[in-house]
Amino acid sequence: MEGNQLAAIQEEEGGERGAGQTEEYQEAKVPDLALNLQVMSISAPRVHNLRATQPWTMGSDNLLIEWIDPADESKTKDDYKFDHIYVSVRVYGVPKNHRSLQLLQQILSTIGKPSEFHPLQESMLFARSDYIWGTTKIRISDSIVDKISLTLDEKNSKTVYLYYEKIGRICLFCGVMFHTVQHCQKRNNIIMERVRSGQTTEDIPFFRYGEWVMDSGGSE
Ligand SMILES: [Zn+2]
Repeated sequence: MEGNQLAAIQEEEGGERGAGQTEEYQEAKVPDLALNLQVMSISAPRVHNLRATQPWTMGSDNLLIEWIDPADESKTKDDYKFDHIYVSVRVYGVPKNHRSLQLLQQILSTIGKPSEFHPLQESMLFARSDYIWGTTKIRISDSIVDKISLTLDEKNSKTVYLYYEKIGRICLFCGVMFHTVQHCQKRNNIIMERVRSGQTTEDIPFFRYGEWVMDSGGSE
């Protein structure tokens, strides 16, 4: 997670608070959440747009967004965990005659949870000749999936390859987003353990996931 920008977006539901009240509201009620959290207030019409255009990026960093209701006093700052990100995933290699919303849904569910903000549409299946795509909600502590073996019918199975749009870093050793192999705690721990017990570390690979999952190839 190092180098990650976190942002908290204060949500304004409904139309009760007019534009004239927004500033006063912002000054008075933006909660002091924690160090390194930036809180901003945005107008209601922009909320949907903000949600639908996730993930947000800053260079190779991704912005994680949580929605805060300052009026909900039952939530403490620990309830805002920044533990999910919405990612548009391309699935390469699905033959045209086997493309369906059901199959897309099934693939997206393998990676994460279907996004509540991005309903699946026919255009996601047929707008591109080489891939189908959809948005899924991924827990950021989970490893991504780089390929899936699909059973298309009784005779045919096919491996399809996944690409994560707008994700700047994915560790190709452990599959977790937002760090590179060079900064992989899991890999470093394995190396340390080997060194401590006097074993070789030469057979520990850099990459266990396919480089096709993102643009940068995971190295800096
Ligand atoms: Zn890693």
